[in-house]
Amino acid sequence: MNNIQNIIEGAEKAGISYRLDAPMSEYTSFRTGGKADVVFLPSSELQLRSLLRMCSDEEVKPFVFGNGSNLLVSDDGIRGVSIRLANNFEEIRLLDETTIYCSAGTKLATLCKFAMEHSLTGLEFAYGIPGSVGGAVYMNAGAYGGDMKDVITCCTHIDYAGNPGKLTGDMLGFSYRTSIYTGKYFVITGAVFSLQKGVKEEINAKMQEIMGKRIEKQPLDLPSAGSFFRHPKGYYASALIEQCGLKGFSVGGAQVSEKHSGFVVNKGGATTAEIMELGRLVAEKVLNETGVELEREVKYIG
Ligand SMILES: Cc1cc2nc3c(=O)[nH]c(=O)nc-3n(C[C@H](O)[C@H](O)[C@H](O)COP(=O)(O)OP(=O)(O)OC[C@H]3O[C@@H](n4cnc5c(N)ncnc54)[C@H](O)[C@@H]3O)c2cc1C
Repeated sequence: MNNIQNIIEGAEKAGISYRLDAPMSEYTSFRTGGKADVVFLPSSELQLRSLLRMCSDEEVKPFVFGNGSNLLVSDDGIRGVSIRLANNFEEIRLLDETTIYCSAGTKLATLCKFAMEHSLTGLEFAYGIPGSVGGAVYMNAGAYGGDMKDVITCCTHIDYAGNPGKLTGDMLGFSYRTSIYTGKYFVITGAVFSLQKGVKEEINAKMQEIMGKRIEKQPLDLPSAGSFFRHPKGYYASALIEQCGLKGFSVGGAQVSEKHSGFVVNKGGATTAEIMELGRLVAEKVLNETGVELEREVKYIG
């Protein structure tokens, strides 16, 4: 742990906030997970860069996350260094009349409202996805006929040695719920969104309509991470799960939502182990009964 202690001391000197023994249940939308040894909360790119350099010098590979809305953390927590880029890493500005730069920690809701306030259309689909911009890039988040690939033209990142870089266009490798960054050691620092001029009232109406659909169809009153499984090609995971009679099926405090079978919810006191076991049993039954393989969309760490 000496190397972690060195990073903590370096971070203190650089004025970077951190939290020791941080309960990950407070940082994840599932409200489960054990403690992380240390979560750093850099507030600027400069701080992030120096933190990553310290990690590199100490040969520590940090775990980087955003709003924790697509994340399941082991009940044993996370060893080593974690870095959270949500709320604490927010910058949003117009680059020109129709282009926005937004840093990774900004919530999608904030970005969508900013676009609406500036009468920019194209991002309405993302209203209600409870992630950060960094998490949305990593996952190529999408809904209601749109995803990040439709609106992002450039992403900025820092590699784990602390070197900044950027990728544009096809280099971003966006496809269904993945991007070039998925599974790689890069920290996404921001993205450029290319939108079109629209009518503010119409943009707002579309956003409210989409939010209304979410409230009607999704179990937003219970902790979850949205769709638990990816949609297998040609199928809807929720329909397959329902077809197998698994709506409402539970393991301890984890349950297949009674409102939307694509969601696994924490109906109270669930552990990550229970959620993972539920997911395993659901996938097993769906495979046995339909021959279709379900793959988890939610990321597991620990
Ligand atoms: C109620 C509900 C509804 C949802 N609806 C949708 C939906 O309609 N469409 C959809 O696509 N998703 C949906 N989601 C899932 C989730 O909101 C998205 O996947 C979102 O993009 C995750 O962003 P995040 O900041 O929470 O990422 P996190 O959960 O914090 O992280 C997800 C992954 O991204 C990585 N990551 C995050 N930030 C960075 C960064 N800056 N640099 C490098 N890697 C990073 C993490 O390591 C992790 O592997 C929903 C979730 C909930 C709870």
